[in-house]
Amino acid sequence: MTNQYGTTQGSGAADIAAPASGFKEVLLSPGDCSGCGACTELAPDIVGWREGDERPFLVSDVAPDGVLTELMAFCPEGCFEGGDESCP
Ligand code: SF4
Repeated sequence: MTNQYGTTQGSGAADIAAPASGFKEVLLSPGDCSGCGACTELAPDIVGWREGDERPFLVSDVAPDGVLTELMAFCPEGCFEGGDESCP
C-alpha cells in the first residue's frame, strides 16, 4: 500500500522496526498564531483546521523533511519546529 508521500507501508513487523529516513516529528506551538491559514493551505495532510477554531491542529505529528521545512519557512509567526527523526 502506498501512502500520500509515495512510500510503501505494510503491516509486517519489519515495517515497524525499519526507521524511515526523511521524516521528522512536527512540533506546533500555536501561541503566537495569527490565524493566517498558510499552514493548512500548504500541508493539509499535516495541519488541519476545525470550523470555528482560531488555531490549527496537527493532523499528523510527523512530516517529510521538505514539508516541515516549508511549514517553518512559511509560518509568519514561527509556530513550527522540527523534532526528532521519526517514522511515519
Ligand atoms: S501558518 Fe502559522 S500563523 Fe498562520 S495559521 Fe498556521 S500556525 Fe498560525
